[in-house]
Amino acid sequence: MAKFGKQTVVILCYNTAMKKILQRAPKIVFIIFFLVMLMIISSCGNLPGLPNTDPSASPTNHGKITATSSITASPTAVRTEPSPTPTPTPVPAPTLQDFPEGIPRDSTDPVAEPERIANERGGWPAESSLHDFYAAELSQYRGRAEDASPLKGITVIVDPGHGGKDPGAIAGDCTEKVSNLQISLLLAERLRTYGAEVLLTRTEDEYVSLYKRIGLGSMFIAERALPRLAESGADTFWLRQLQADYQKMIEVNNDNVDPRRGEIGYRGQAQGIGVNELWRKHMDLQRLANDVLWLSIHSNSSLNTDIRGLKLFFNTNRGTVDLENRMLTKEPNCEILPANPSYHLYDDAARNRLAQFIYAEVIALVPELKDPADNPVLSGNYAFTREINLTSVLVEIGFMSNPEDLKIIIDPAKQAKVAEGIARAVYKHYTQ
Ligand SMILES: [Zn+2]
Repeated sequence: MAKFGKQTVVILCYNTAMKKILQRAPKIVFIIFFLVMLMIISSCGNLPGLPNTDPSASPTNHGKITATSSITASPTAVRTEPSPTPTPTPVPAPTLQDFPEGIPRDSTDPVAEPERIANERGGWPAESSLHDFYAAELSQYRGRAEDASPLKGITVIVDPGHGGKDPGAIAGDCTEKVSNLQISLLLAERLRTYGAEVLLTRTEDEYVSLYKRIGLGSMFIAERALPRLAESGADTFWLRQLQADYQKMIEVNNDNVDPRRGEIGYRGQAQGIGVNELWRKHMDLQRLANDVLWLSIHSNSSLNTDIRGLKLFFNTNRGTVDLENRMLTKEPNCEILPANPSYHLYDDAARNRLAQFIYAEVIALVPELKDPADNPVLSGNYAFTREINLTSVLVEIGFMSNPEDLKIIIDPAKQAKVAEGIARAVYKHYTQ
């Protein structure tokens, strides 16, 4: 776990924010300066309590869609030996309050006729534009014993949140990026003992932008699909086009940019709202990969330090279509209009099933992480669960802003139990 003084954190935060703000609003700078000085003087503890004063706050907050969310990185998704050497540069921590207003929180809500909504807007046909050239026979996994490599043939992409210049949530001298990686590596190890193949989007303390992560996962799916698609005699040109796009997402490892405004960076076809024909194929292709899961590992933070517990998020069809419609209403001059709504092709049931298993299995081993609100599985909007159309879930292992949760999050023994619980959930997802 990273150790650094509270005052150092505050000063680092102050410097980073200052650079961005100075050009824009001298008054804000003065206010921030005043607040920071107040913090230093009072030496009060938890940084998660700091108000988000950075006007260019990083949209890397777990991949939520924002006007400036962005992209990135390097082609080798699979590595193993971590050497976390955290050098934190504080970024505002994500909180539950970040949710766009009105997003349905209940993932068990029935889908509100997304096809009809899409069609009314002149969208894509509800059915896939890609023929079903691949699907794993999942029935072969049912009933497999735990000790007989039950997940052989299954791939799990484990995505440790944040890293490098992006610390994620901060609590005193603890940063989220460190515990995310520790838990992810334990999870990877445990999943491998089940026979699963595991890919990691990072294995050390390095910055990996949201869209680099998406590019890495998507490239894996594309490389796997290419020979199968060719074998089926179908056209593969579009897939090679997508691969070129993924590669660019991987190479341009830079968040905090909006390519629609000509800023440097690249989020490929993944614009977060509407899709073109190529990205529709991307969505359709990943829908076929029923033997691949995506798990993003994070911890939460809130200004309310009483809030605690394990939470699981993913984009649902209804939530995402509603959000798209709302954004289009708000920004009717959006240059990508007419948007073709297509973010309604998720397998809600599979995502919900996996999330429910994760909650049940982790709570069985670490009951302290029980959600006091008893509403742990939620619909949200995140780059990974929106642009990745696998069975994907964002796992928020407690709140770093809550002292009790924080103890669990940074305790190696508890981390191992959390990892064990998530791995058992994956096992149950396929074998029950
Ligand atoms: Zn996070």
